[in-house]
Amino acid sequence: MSGFGSLNIIMQAKPHLHGKRGADLLHDPLLNKGTAFTATERDTLGLRGLLPPRIITQDQQALRVLETVRNKNTDLERYIYLISLQERNENLFYRVVMDNVAEMMPLIYTPTVGLACQRYALIFRRPRGLFISLHDRGHIKQILQNWPHADVRMIVVTDGERILGLGDLGANGMGIPVGKLSLYTACAGVAPDFCLPVMLDAGTNNQELLEGPHYLGLLQKRERGPAYDELVDEFVQAVQEIFPRACIQFEDFGNSNAFRLLHKYRDQVCTFNDDIQGTAGVALAGILSALRLTGGKMSEQRILFLGAGEAGIGIGELVVTALQAHGVDEAAARRQCWFVDSKGLVVADRTDLSSHKLPFAHQHAGAATLLAAVETIKPTMLIGVSGMTGAFDEKIVRTMGQLNQRPVIFALSNPTSKAECTAEQAYTWTEGRAVFASGSPFPDFTMDGRVFKPGQGNNSYIFPGVGLGLIVSGAQRVTDEMFFVAAKVLAGIVTEQDLAVGRVYPDLQRIREVSSAIARAVAEVAFERGLTSMLRPENLDERVQALMYDPAYVEYV
Ligand code: NAD
Repeated sequence: MSGFGSLNIIMQAKPHLHGKRGADLLHDPLLNKGTAFTATERDTLGLRGLLPPRIITQDQQALRVLETVRNKNTDLERYIYLISLQERNENLFYRVVMDNVAEMMPLIYTPTVGLACQRYALIFRRPRGLFISLHDRGHIKQILQNWPHADVRMIVVTDGERILGLGDLGANGMGIPVGKLSLYTACAGVAPDFCLPVMLDAGTNNQELLEGPHYLGLLQKRERGPAYDELVDEFVQAVQEIFPRACIQFEDFGNSNAFRLLHKYRDQVCTFNDDIQGTAGVALAGILSALRLTGGKMSEQRILFLGAGEAGIGIGELVVTALQAHGVDEAAARRQCWFVDSKGLVVADRTDLSSHKLPFAHQHAGAATLLAAVETIKPTMLIGVSGMTGAFDEKIVRTMGQLNQRPVIFALSNPTSKAECTAEQAYTWTEGRAVFASGSPFPDFTMDGRVFKPGQGNNSYIFPGVGLGLIVSGAQRVTDEMFFVAAKVLAGIVTEQDLAVGRVYPDLQRIREVSSAIARAVAEVAFERGLTSMLRPENLDERVQALMYDPAYVEYV
């Protein structure tokens, strides 16, 4: 056991060496400083001769890392290099990521992580996280005990069924919990040893993987019966016993399980689903910021979603919460949200709707296509969460432009190749009037001498801060109100300068400031609503700051 464990207190403690010295120290990624070990440390800790003689600083190491990253030919090579750095020296990895967050985030998370998952077996070097399969039922507590850190606070778990917009990647989906937890640390300073990535392997229906020679997961079709629920249930219960202070974040589960598991566990344990609730938070923040540009009121919006899955319905539900806070009653609030799925407009007459869509199935004539839906609903905002590349075509975007002086168009599908339209298209087809945001980053776009800097509705604006807020408050449940306050805090941080270039989110470089503000707001909800047995500390701000991990090296001797 090593690292920053803080068993009974939540303040960050100085790392313990746990008697480690020499090669063992160099091979512990939480303690290793590589060429930055001082002369005294080298002498005292048995490192003399194990390192080249020149001693350099973390800043010098970081420059070398940056140069190496930039010299690589492809983003996948950059990803492989960065992950192996993380496996050697976590502090240096986070130093580089935190100081260059806008450049690094697309490499360690979407879009590159999607490709990394697709190639998971081929780029596999060292295992990271816990792999729990159907065959492990009956032994999950022991597996959790095998994890080398005792005080886990944040678990990200996937079963790999719906990885980003890429579909069922089975055990290859492990790249997602690993990447997401890196973002908890980089964006909100959740200490690396508080974080546990988990793959719940229940098989895969990806035939190519099952038939290929290199797949590392269970070689069987996805389990759909009671054995699946038993696996998840044993995992959730085992976490309560072995890591009682951990929050479980469900990530990239298929539609049929995601809503069901959220409803099953949200009132029992500390858990949330980022695809549903985190996405909702970030999208709502974008909507609130967009209103500053359009001058509209929340209660006057008609929002049309393309895609009625986890992201779309999650956003819809949080918009309803926000509208209710603005005094709109629930039924009226729901009528402001409209959905188009693969079968057309979601309306009450349809008999093919799954339960999560029903609260938004309004009495209205059907519409077979998105264009027909736009023409009949006349939305003020169009939000793409369908994974349908190019679904916002010229006709649709131009129609939005005719209906609205400032049409709000969010193409949130990931990765970039799945976006419903590009930033360039949204601006060009509306003569620069669109308020645009995307899921994956788009480059700046210049039109008639005007520079647009499209905002990225990246979930990382929300979930790391929410996680930090849960940790600092010791919250035992996660509520929608927490995502609502997180959205409001995020929108409040967007500056006039951001809005002037069309950006409805703050600069990513401000992510730690954003996360600590969200953490405070989320913790306040936990204290106010009695969701924790902890008393609210007088100095909540200081508590948040003290908890935030700092990748600077400390001197061991
Ligand atoms: P999901 O599988 O739960 O839902 C997808 C939805 O799209 C389903 O309702 C499906 O019926 C609908 N759909 C599929 N084909 C369609 C078509 N031809 N026309 C209309 N609708 C169609 O997936 P999800 O979790 O809701 O994610 C959807 C997309 O949103 C993904 O690409 C994901 O990457 C993206 N997403 C972005 C963010 C973000 O930007 N912050 C967050 C979460 C998800």
